[in-house]
Parts: sequence; structure tokens; C-alpha cells
Amino acid sequence: MNTKILLGEDRIPKQWYNIIPDMPGPLAPVIHPGTLQPVTPDDLLPLFPMGLIEQEVSSQRWIDIPDEVREVYKLWRPAPLYRAHRLEKVLGTPAKIYYKYEGGSPAGSHKPNTAIPQAYYNKIFGTKRIATETGAGQWGSAMSFACQMFGLACTVYMVKVSFNQKPYRKSMMQLWGSNVIPSPSDRTNAGRAILAQFPDSNGSLGIAISEAVEDAATHEDTRYALGSVLNHVCLHQTVIGIEAKEQLALVNAYPDVVIGCHGGGSNFAGIAFPFAADKANGKNVRLLAMEPTSCPTLTKGVYEFDYGDTAKMAPIAKMYTLGHDFMPPGIHAGGLRYHGASPLVSQLVNAGVVEARAVAQKGCFEAAVMFSCAEGIIPAPESSHAIRGAIDEALQAKEEGKEKTILFCLSGHGQVDMTAYDAYFSGQLEDYEYPAEAIRESLSHLPKVSF
Ligand SMILES: *Cc1c(COP(=O)(O)O)cnc(C)c1O
Repeated sequence: MNTKILLGEDRIPKQWYNIIPDMPGPLAPVIHPGTLQPVTPDDLLPLFPMGLIEQEVSSQRWIDIPDEVREVYKLWRPAPLYRAHRLEKVLGTPAKIYYKYEGGSPAGSHKPNTAIPQAYYNKIFGTKRIATETGAGQWGSAMSFACQMFGLACTVYMVKVSFNQKPYRKSMMQLWGSNVIPSPSDRTNAGRAILAQFPDSNGSLGIAISEAVEDAATHEDTRYALGSVLNHVCLHQTVIGIEAKEQLALVNAYPDVVIGCHGGGSNFAGIAFPFAADKANGKNVRLLAMEPTSCPTLTKGVYEFDYGDTAKMAPIAKMYTLGHDFMPPGIHAGGLRYHGASPLVSQLVNAGVVEARAVAQKGCFEAAVMFSCAEGIIPAPESSHAIRGAIDEALQAKEEGKEKTILFCLSGHGQVDMTAYDAYFSGQLEDYEYPAEAIRESLSHLPKVSF
């Protein structure tokens, strides 16, 4: 019995799967935050290259992956699919557990799957520099690597508290040639306004987004890049599920349930959308998104129009949201703290195609440690939410004495997140109550949009 199911480089997908034509119903429009009217491609052109704007709204089911992108994908793709024999044994479950491991990319997560094509489409568009933001540094490091591959300069606005407390991903970004700036900074109006009011501000992702967007919008040769949420990001990530499906077919397997952790929705979309296509054609497969109880966007949010960012500069989209000014507690799965969600994933949750479940962080670390002791790989704190979901599904199969095939996405490794494990082992980790009052408050600030 194989532990790893591998594909040759010639099996790197030649096309991404675009779920838009298979969605249950039309997409809601994306709304301009200033005019409150639907955005046009011209509105987006100061921020994104045309190639990506076209993909954002494309109705073409399969979209060719440029050869230049596939060449870089060869550095780590196809990603291995593992059968978790040892974890199954520890759990004593009749379930078969498979995981698609995306931590083998240079940045250590799934994020380069979209950073590489984003850099490519910018390069051919004539962009000279990318401006982007990062929280703990996963996206910033992926984009830095991608810019290095295509000869683009890269400016990363990094939330100041992470810049000071989590120096290793900052060093990765610098190694790949990026200019990393603690945010708020004095380089933008948005940053200067915050500093004037709060000179000691630790920053936030919302502020960093505002700085990066302003930088891109005010420099002709510069464009902005976002690592999750948007349709073209979900599109690029479908290489995960396309490969996984082929790998499972090699061992005559097909999942009963497909699981991913959910922050903005991109790795979940990546593993789940290619299976959603089968589901739309009548196949019996469950799709399960796992999120933290402290930022329960899909399970406790509302499906409404809301701003993409705290500063109300990003477009308004219809999505599950906790309110754009909701401030989640500082949990260790930093990549799962977004107030909103991918509009595509949101629509699928609303239509009952995708299920969502929230889990508390201690149980996730417990699952991560159990997984790592059995399988070796140390998971990213974000990925541990998917592991928790997979283990719970496997334990349920055991209780019911049922066979079941489980597939989950191990979105990244945790080797640059060991302070989070330190906190867990030293008993400093808390399970936050569901912040009902804060969510009720922030949900009262949604924009009034009706389309
Ligand atoms: C960023 C990140 C996530 C969350 O982002 P999604 O867009 O929801 O996938 C999950 N896992 C890892 C390892 C990450 O770096």
C-alpha cells in the first residue's frame, strides 16, 4: 500500500477549473465603495492587470494555465497526496484518510499557487512593481517569491506587530528581494493619518490593505495583489483539487467528504471546487469548510453586501460577513481571521452545496499534535482546523462502524509558527467564547446596498 501518491511533472494541470458557469444561480455584482454602483473593469484597472480582471468574471469553465506558470509550478507541483495510514491506526477508524500536502512549496503553503500566476499576468501587462499587504507573512512571502521568479519589484506592507514579533517570514521576504515596510508607515496618506492619531499603532490587516491599495493606485507602474477571497485566486488554487482527484483515481478512491480550513476561502476552494463540479452532476460528495469559533464567518455571519476591508476602500461584495469592523481575537491561526469570505464559497454555503463547521483552537492544536506524532509533518495552525475536521469525521465513522473516504487539504507547514505551538505547550492558549456581542455590533454597520 502506498503512502504517497505521486504524479509526474507532465501531469501538472494544463487548465484551471472555473466554477462560475457551474454556480447555482447568477453571481451578485461587486459594488464600488464610493459610488455604490457595480464596479466596471475600468474601476479595477488601476489595481489589477487585465488578465486577472478577465478571470474574475470569466464564464469559461476551463482556463489555460500559461506555460510560463506551469514551468514555475514544477518547482513543487504536482504536490503529493498522502494516505494517512498511521493516523488511521492511532484513531482506530475504518475510514481512509487522504491529505493533499501544499506545504512543499518554497513559501511553505498553498499561496504560491496563485502568487505565481498573479506575478505572471502582471509581468505581461507591463507592471514593474507589486504592492501588497501581509499579516503574519504567509502571503507576503509567497508574493515575494513569485515576484522574484518574474523579475518584478515587490513592496510588502506588513502589520507592525507581526513585523516586530514574527521576524522569520519578514526575513524570507527580504531574502526574495522584497521591500518590507511595517504598517502603518509614513509612505501613504492612509498610514500617516493613523500615525498622526495613534503614533504607537500596532497596525492591522485593514490598515495594511489600505496602504498597499493606495500605493498601487497612485503609481502607474505598480499593481496590487490579494492572496485570497477573489474569484481569480480561487480559480488558481483549483490545481490542488484537480491533482487530488487524479491521484485518488490512481488508487480507485473517491472522497465521501472533502475538507479544508477556511480563512478567505482560497485553499478550501482549491481542494473543493473540482469536486463541487461532480456534485453538481449528481455525485454524492460532501464539502466541508472548517473555521475558528473566534472568527466564525460562515457559521455565524450573515450573507449580505459588505466592504472587503476595515477602511471601506475595497469593493463591496455579497458574502458571509461578521461586519467589516469586526476585530477577531488574536488567535494563532492568523490566516483565519478575516471578517468576510470568498463570494463564491459564500454563495455555495448559502445554497447548501458547502457545509461549514467552527472549531475552537485548543482542539485544533490537539489534532495538529496527534497528526504530527503519527504522520511527521508539523501543520500550520490554520491547517490544523482541517485536521480537526478530518479526525472528527474519522471518529464518527468509527462510532457508526462505517467505511468512509476522507480527503483534506494540508494547506501549509508550521515550521515558521512554532511560537504558536510554544503557547499551546505552555498552557497559554485560550479558547475564546463566540464573540456574539462584538459581532452583533459590527453587523449593524453594513453598507446599505440593494442589488
Ligand atoms: C493563508 C493561509 C490559510 C487561509 O487562507 P485561505 O484563503 O482561506 O486558504 C490557510 N492555511 C495556510 C497555511 C495559510 O497560509
